[in-house]
Amino acid sequence: MDDDVTRVYTDGGTVAHFLDVLQSPNASDTEALCGRTPWPGLWHGTGSQDEEERAIDLRVCSQCQAVLTHRRNGYLSR
Ligand SMILES: [Zn+2]
Repeated sequence: MDDDVTRVYTDGGTVAHFLDVLQSPNASDTEALCGRTPWPGLWHGTGSQDEEERAIDLRVCSQCQAVLTHRRNGYLSR
């Protein structure tokens, strides 16, 4: 379902954001779908099993979800 995005979160973050899978979570200027960056830290959620599980547990950022939904609806209508 989420094969084309990666769930990530910031240091101390309470929501998960989506990154395009082609983008690196290991750069502090990588933008999530909502435009947010992890600056001055890095995205977490891909480094270890614990991080992956935490990213799954967090509520998804509503803006990231909206962008993803919009994008998928766009694909479906073509
Ligand atoms: Zn977001």
